[in-house]
Amino acid sequence: MTVNLLDFDAAGLTAFFAEQGEKPFRARQVLHWIHRSGLADFDAMSDIAKSLREKLRKIASVIPPAFVSDSLSDDGTRKFLFDVGGGNAVETVFIPEDDRGTLCISTQAGCALDCSFCATGKQGFNRNLTVAEIIGQLWQVGRTLAADAGSTERIISNVVLMGMGEPLANFENTVTALHLMLDDHAYGLSRRRVTVSTSGLVPAMDRLGAECPVALAVSLHAPNDRLRDQLVPINRKYPLRELIAACNRYLPNAPRDFVTFEYVMLDGVNDTDAHADELLELTRKVPCKINLIPFNPFPGSPYRRSPAHRTRRFAEILMNAGVVTTTRKTRGDDIDAACGQLAGQVLDKTRRIARRVFELHEVRP
Ligand code: SAH
Ligand code: SF4
Repeated sequence: MTVNLLDFDAAGLTAFFAEQGEKPFRARQVLHWIHRSGLADFDAMSDIAKSLREKLRKIASVIPPAFVSDSLSDDGTRKFLFDVGGGNAVETVFIPEDDRGTLCISTQAGCALDCSFCATGKQGFNRNLTVAEIIGQLWQVGRTLAADAGSTERIISNVVLMGMGEPLANFENTVTALHLMLDDHAYGLSRRRVTVSTSGLVPAMDRLGAECPVALAVSLHAPNDRLRDQLVPINRKYPLRELIAACNRYLPNAPRDFVTFEYVMLDGVNDTDAHADELLELTRKVPCKINLIPFNPFPGSPYRRSPAHRTRRFAEILMNAGVVTTTRKTRGDDIDAACGQLAGQVLDKTRRIARRVFELHEVRP
């Protein structure tokens, strides 16, 4: 078994090199070759001494998750499927826009949090992705896009952790992958261009703010506890009052001075004028922007998407009160790549009933 160097950020790689009696600057050079140049072959790392290259060939490797297939949507959105073993596959979505290219990355095979409107949640949870599996999505898709475009230009300018899974429930691996995204010797993205989306794991939000603050999106979806308890069950453990307080603790360290609240528009469930008014009350408690997401249906989902005129009216109420509100364009829904449609393939290891008990009574997330 060789050591997979995609599992290391700069600190980890330096420590690994030190164990081998190698200097820190060698680790930096190798990090650069792997992530900046997209190389997996040590022999191609031309400024590394031949003896070190030979040693690395014996003890180390660069192994991303196995790329299975990709599909291209009519609107240019491209969905990549990765096999992460044991019958599990995860999805990564590239969304090109005029002024940026955003990669939406997965952090878990499945998700244990069981939000009632989410295809990933409905599949259950199998396991956390490793650092190599998380950063490997960026590594692999970056290489593929560059090769297809025949260019060395950076095509991925933004990363959002909004694919399958709850990033903050896989905290250590997510943060190590974030370090690589931000590291100038790896992907060199600014903190403002990397967004973690969470359903609201309060203690982990505090840890993220202390250890690696990046842009924060919070999946709100309901303006009161009664409704949010149903839609986002983790709310029973961390209700809105605590969630809003955690957002306010996060912002002083964050690269942006607002939180983005994601709000999926469910016909007749959370989309009335009264809900908008209630939401306004909430937005007074924390600097925020609201991102309305048209609900994307999936087989067996019990909800319908709010009609376009309803979403427009909802946005109007918020905007008239001075709250910056955007409505997400649905991208890639012809290839099931839209928000909440990512299902990949997950062998659920947890029994749903056991998971409920865990959610409601465990102290740790
Ligand atoms: N677990 C994290 C990140 C992944 S979900 C979180 O919940 O924030 C990414 C976003 O897609 C979240 O805002 C989520 O609520 C939203 N989403 C989930 N299912 C959806 C669906 N069917 N239609 C539209 N958005 C959905
Ligand atoms: Fe998990 Fe996010 Fe889906 Fe909820 S919305 S089940 S937290 S992936």
